[in-house]
Amino acid sequence: MASPESGKKRPSDAPTASAAAPAPAPHPDPYPPERHAAYVEDFRQAAHQTVDWIADYLANTRRYPVLPQIKPGDLIDSLPTTAPDRGEPFAKILRDFDKKIMPAVTHWNHPRFMAYFACTGSTPAIIGEMLSAALNTNGIHWLTSPAVAELEHVTLGWYRQWLGLPDDFMGLVYDTASVSTMHAIAAAREMADPDVRTKGSKANLVLYTSEQAHSSVEKGAIALGIGQKNVRKVPVDSAFRMRPDLLRDMLVADYGCGMRPFCVVATVGTTSTTSVDPVEAIAKIAEQYNLWLHVDAAYAGPAAMLPEFSHILKGADRAHSLVTNPHKWLFTPIDFSAFYTRRPDILRRAFSLIPEYLRAKTQEDSRSINLMDYGVALGRRFRSLKFWMILRYFGREGIEKLLRAHIAWAQELATWIKADERFEISAPHPFSVVCFRYKGTDEDNRALLEKVNATGKAYITHTELEGKVVLRIALAHLSATREDVQAVWELVRHCAKA
Ligand code: PLP
Repeated sequence: MASPESGKKRPSDAPTASAAAPAPAPHPDPYPPERHAAYVEDFRQAAHQTVDWIADYLANTRRYPVLPQIKPGDLIDSLPTTAPDRGEPFAKILRDFDKKIMPAVTHWNHPRFMAYFACTGSTPAIIGEMLSAALNTNGIHWLTSPAVAELEHVTLGWYRQWLGLPDDFMGLVYDTASVSTMHAIAAAREMADPDVRTKGSKANLVLYTSEQAHSSVEKGAIALGIGQKNVRKVPVDSAFRMRPDLLRDMLVADYGCGMRPFCVVATVGTTSTTSVDPVEAIAKIAEQYNLWLHVDAAYAGPAAMLPEFSHILKGADRAHSLVTNPHKWLFTPIDFSAFYTRRPDILRRAFSLIPEYLRAKTQEDSRSINLMDYGVALGRRFRSLKFWMILRYFGREGIEKLLRAHIAWAQELATWIKADERFEISAPHPFSVVCFRYKGTDEDNRALLEKVNATGKAYITHTELEGKVVLRIALAHLSATREDVQAVWELVRHCAKA
């Protein structure tokens, strides 16, 4: 039987069917041009509607409860247990988004979200995310997306200038500070023990950080096989800053028993109190003992843009690496972590591994940036697009104005707290976070926290300092006002009275 194709000439490299077997019927195109056009039009309508929804949401975020009023498992129970067999229209999907997903959302964009390191997104970043998703371009190596490789270089270069870091710091974007810090520790390990890449580590490597450092430092050490017991937590002074004298003592003690110190992580803006470790003194010790110095400025880094705060990164120019998270205090929706290193050669030595299928002629060009060489991930999102939009839309002046407002309100909030004799300030508050406590038991403070958050009107969190539970209010919102800060403080006072 002759196939419908039998009279047509085949391309020379196409497989030929044997004389006996009929050629398979050509598979129909699932998205022929007319269907594809309808699919795109369908998107156009739904996307216009979605942009309107987003604008309404941003205009009215404060109408939502900050915390969702649901119980664990409620969303799971409200959704079908299996995915649909047949596709559904956007209108129906968006209706369910509104009805089912939205009630389960904690509104980080709410101006009275003052928990953790609060962070709002911003409109230029939303547009950046939309375009990045539309392009779906993947920065594996230069040729897979020159735009991803080079815009990342440019935007992190701009930001580096604002932070006052030296020009030889190469910038890379990772998803989170935890991942940035893990890469810093991996590079530190590579510097100390170059055999580790091929043979695994047998050296007794030891890492130092303060007892106020973020848990991501310890997690990085766990992931890299350094071991939790080889992470030394250097005690802090009365202002929660690492004590360099004790760092030195610990180093000497470790050398004395045959251990190999390899890395120290200093923090600029610790998670609980925003204290700033003495980076310059730590850098001096790191140089003396040939340790990799990583600076975790995940939260407070942006403040270094302000001339009056440039001192916070004093000594950071001597670090091997530094991380700062625009998704904490720079109006960038999660995720975006800016990582800088003065030793990209070592990071590259730790991670570059290029199978044949990923080789391209462009890699021989000294100007080609191949992001896959600098970390575990192969594929990279076009994250820098949203950051480029933020830097251009607000400009340095616009961003500085916002940061200064947050810092000023935090200082004012501290004066209100001090003026109420039922409360006390628990730590210095140089930036936009204030730690304080109700002068009662830990249980009183926990109960107060629960009461405030149960109102749905604000979200604040707690931490532990010197063995006591303390409350934290963090300001970082683009649309927050002084009145929001006042209202949340009044809410705390009111709940304390109750
Ligand atoms: N470093 C510090 C100082 C932090 O406060 C945090 C989180 O709050 C992190 C690192 C981890 O950030 P990420 O969530 O981006 O991993």
